[in-house]
Amino acid sequence: MFELMKLPFKDNALAPVVSAETIGFHYAKHHQAYVDKVNELIAGTEFQDMSLEEIIERTYDKPEYQVLYNNAGQVFNHNFYWNSIGFGERIDADLDAKIKEHFETREALRQKIIDEAVKLFGSGWVWLVEGVGGKLSVLATRNGDTPLVLGFKPLLNVDVWEHAYYLDYQNRRKDYVEAFVTQLLKI
Ligand code: MN
Repeated sequence: MFELMKLPFKDNALAPVVSAETIGFHYAKHHQAYVDKVNELIAGTEFQDMSLEEIIERTYDKPEYQVLYNNAGQVFNHNFYWNSIGFGERIDADLDAKIKEHFETREALRQKIIDEAVKLFGSGWVWLVEGVGGKLSVLATRNGDTPLVLGFKPLLNVDVWEHAYYLDYQNRRKDYVEAFVTQLLKI
């Protein structure tokens, strides 16, 4: 059984970029609901003692497990989202060199993330991932999909479901993403 992760900051720590009110819904209601649904679906099944990553890999592209796949993916993605805060402050020399190799500058990486988030139609996520041979790329996934099943190691993500920003930004997704990437991810 899974528990809702503890946030690594106070619920007002991200304001005004992400308000305490948004955290109250996004974390305490939406994220909690995904955890609860996964627990309900795995109870008494072959999945009940597996890690989240294992559940995601075993249910991927299997129509009979789609509800579990979607909800497990969303738990993983939201855990990753809250832990992505402050990403830029944790970039070490090795990663900084890789970013410059693949994007030339941090500003270019930041802009690529913003562009992909604005461009994504509907609900989903934008990620910085590391692929085979350490190749970095920015990609978008739809709904509850994660890059894990595509063979990538995720480094950070941005939630671009409307529930992530609607209370604070209404339809202004670009304003949310720009503020989130610049002021909270600190790229
Ligand atoms: Mn979300």
